[in-house]
Amino acid sequence: KAPDPDLSKIRDSLTNVKHKILVLSGKGGVGKSTVTSHLAYALSEDVDCTVGVLDIDICGPSIPQIMGLQGEQVHSSGSGWSPIYVDDNLCVMSPGFLLASPKDAVIWRGPKKNGLIKQFLRDVDWGTLDYLVVDTPPGTSDEHLSIVKFLSEAGITSAVIVTTPQEVALLDVRKEINFCKKVNIPIIGIIENMGAFVCPNCKKSSIIFPPTENGVKGVAKSMEIAYLGSIPLDPLIGKCCDSGQSYLQSPHAQGTLSYKNISNQIK
Ligand code: ADP
Repeated sequence: KAPDPDLSKIRDSLTNVKHKILVLSGKGGVGKSTVTSHLAYALSEDVDCTVGVLDIDICGPSIPQIMGLQGEQVHSSGSGWSPIYVDDNLCVMSPGFLLASPKDAVIWRGPKKNGLIKQFLRDVDWGTLDYLVVDTPPGTSDEHLSIVKFLSEAGITSAVIVTTPQEVALLDVRKEINFCKKVNIPIIGIIENMGAFVCPNCKKSSIIFPPTENGVKGVAKSMEIAYLGSIPLDPLIGKCCDSGQSYLQSPHAQGTLSYKNISNQIK
């Protein structure tokens, strides 16, 4: 069988992308897109660090809304599709930029999704990036297999796994870890999202989810994966994401330090 000519084009297009990081979660709604965008914000706080965000959650792209880019459309230039710039050193590409309206639904089967992911890697003019952070759909689906196959053409890709502390979410974390092992993707570590809740009024800390026997730390330890830290459950995160602003810019954000610590461990 003849080699796929697109694979060498992907390799060329990504030659100047140093680190590729997949953000994975077993379940939807655990905050994967929120964590993806805020890791990108945190990494790009260093003005010398160039960061790209690629959203491959094709049927439910939420990155444009979270990063305040709703209504943006992709433009083509001589060197391919231009990503949308949030800052000089932070750019984004999402299937949401291809839809006429954010309310439009994408109902695509595997091969078409595979084709779009290929296009995002082959045709987007990413330029030189220190980090390409990839938001994926929940679980392990066609999109994951496609991105892993294509990115493996362009050097090593690693992964971070996002989970909430509930048992149902933790059960699926083990599946994500096994997926990474199967496809030979090194795991940087697990991020606990919506950990502690500190009441903004009385400042008391409360446990929202019922405590599990070992928690996220325990799962990380038993699966021999690094535990990168815990992001608090903070109503301000929801507010910032809904209005398309970086939570890290808010003076009242409780999770800024957690994000800093986590991004320092990724660097
Ligand atoms: P996923 O990508 O896993 O489906 P999202 O990132 O879309 O999840 O987050 C789901 C919802 O939870 C969003 O409304 C988001 O604003 C909210 N959220 C995420 N993380 C937190 C947090 N740490 N504290 C409070 N709300 C959060």
